[in-house]
Amino acid sequence: MEFSSKLLERAVNEMSQLPGIGKRTALRLVLHMLKQPKEHTVSLSLALQSMRANIKFCKSCNNISDVELCEICSNPNRNEEIVCVVEDIRDVMAIENTSSFKGLYHVLGGKISPMDGIGPHDLNIESLVKKVKEGSIKELIFALSSTMEGDTTNFYIFKQIQDCDIIISTIARGISVGDELEYADEVTLGRSILNRIPFEINLKM
Ligand SMILES: [Zn+2]
Repeated sequence: MEFSSKLLERAVNEMSQLPGIGKRTALRLVLHMLKQPKEHTVSLSLALQSMRANIKFCKSCNNISDVELCEICSNPNRNEEIVCVVEDIRDVMAIENTSSFKGLYHVLGGKISPMDGIGPHDLNIESLVKKVKEGSIKELIFALSSTMEGDTTNFYIFKQIQDCDIIISTIARGISVGDELEYADEVTLGRSILNRIPFEINLKM
């Protein structure tokens, strides 16, 4: 790509570092900004700078937060005896959107993935194990993705805390609501059979 301006080239190069943004898309976005009033670009860059400079991670659950203890951890109406273990903030947001969970979270910051060079010590696992061993948690719910990395991470944490007197569960994996059984893949259908639930529970949902 040949540029008529070094300034334009630099902006496009920076923009194309973002995931899913190729050079062409970056150019389209940058040209769009040039057409907009200058204040729009200033306010975008200030928002990004301020986020990088001021954002914090909750000291208890590692969720992204503006304050030391996030809104969920500091909410007295949440049940602190039940902790849901998730990969990142997007999972917290997804589960919060369901309004079905009133416990707390623990954000690991990823999954164990030797292929990507991510080991247990790169994640917030130690602080979770410490919390469990301190004895205030009664139930831990694993809500990691159903992949080999997710299962490895669940198992690694399980090994550290299996002697503790707590309930350890995983979110149910199975057929989506409204899905036809014949279209479900074998793994999903197999897990649905293994994770079957008493019929009366369906009636309460
Ligand atoms: Zn928190």
